[in-house]
Amino acid sequence: MIGEEEIAAVVEVLKGPQLVHGPRAKAFEAKFADFCGGGSATSVSSCTAGLHLSYFDLGIGAGDEVIVPAQSHVATAHAVELTGARCVFVDVDPKTGNIDVEAAASAVTERTRAITLVHYLGLPADMDGVMALANRHNLPVVEDCALAVGSRHRGRHCGLIGHVGCFSFYPVKHFTTAEGGMVLAQDADVIARLARKKAFGVDRTVSERKVPGVYDVTMLGFNYRMNELAAAIGIVQLDRINGFLERRRAYAKILRAGLAEIDEISLLWEGDADHEHSEYCIAAILDEKTAARRLEIVQHLNAAGVGTSIYYPKAIPEMTYYRDKYGHAPTDFPHARRISDHSIALSVGPHLAEEDMEYTIGATKNALQETR
Ligand SMILES: *Cc1c(COP(=O)(O)O)cnc(C)c1O
Repeated sequence: MIGEEEIAAVVEVLKGPQLVHGPRAKAFEAKFADFCGGGSATSVSSCTAGLHLSYFDLGIGAGDEVIVPAQSHVATAHAVELTGARCVFVDVDPKTGNIDVEAAASAVTERTRAITLVHYLGLPADMDGVMALANRHNLPVVEDCALAVGSRHRGRHCGLIGHVGCFSFYPVKHFTTAEGGMVLAQDADVIARLARKKAFGVDRTVSERKVPGVYDVTMLGFNYRMNELAAAIGIVQLDRINGFLERRRAYAKILRAGLAEIDEISLLWEGDADHEHSEYCIAAILDEKTAARRLEIVQHLNAAGVGTSIYYPKAIPEMTYYRDKYGHAPTDFPHARRISDHSIALSVGPHLAEEDMEYTIGATKNALQETR
């Protein structure tokens, strides 16, 4: 979904004087916050960087615990691990794939310092439940919004409900900057601090320096900035995001309706007016018996020209690094496991046409038939 305008915007940066620290990152941040309907934003080099930066700023580290859903991209957990804190995994709600608030409540200890969650595949999590739990224990909530561009909970854009929300603009997400991310928050002071800490903890930006090279370092920080090339792409992509989302939602509606008629497949909740779904993709969850031939089904779909993915290959606690460190049994998170082991992710991306949805439904039926 990179067009002539994105290419022209990059060329303009390359021909100009500033590759980093320029006006485009700032403009992109303002435009993104505006799209989300409020708050402040600071651009970062990736969603993972944004998550790590957020925990670092919260002072979370060795001896601390963070509650993490078992079903997410491994980055949700890695960002916690990088601080030295421990992940305390909890299972997900089988109907939504989102964090199970009751399981999270049982996981709180005196060492808990934060709760993180992902809006799984773009469906807003139960933020009423999560925020009530967090407020009861005075814990910050870090929203992993990598799949939540356009997701709204009771009319509020995801990322503006908890302490911060971290977005990803990796190529396969809702829109891209090649690599890149954004941290969004209601509190402008939090964003101002993160903006310093993503740039070595320097006390003034390049444009704020009256004399070049004269600055001080007042805190520890990273280099997690977004460059001007990425920001230039992001600005153009943001002009197109509403069209992208419209198509995703229209396609998802067709695909859900078609897949719902297939006995072997069940679907996660499609959301409602209070849980506006951004439709990252549709997870076709195969029943127990059919799931045994998932790979074969995937191969049939791919041979028919239907691209597929799996979100995610294993629940996070079952990935070797986490299994070795925490020693969870595969049965500890049955719902996360069922979604990761039994589902096939089907695209509703804006690069597709409406006819492709009917084609995907037909190809899925054929693949199930032919592998039976
Ligand atoms: C893609 C993804 C990430 C990582 O994003 P990067 O920008 O590649 O760091 C984190 N969390 C979730 C849920 C994701 O899907």
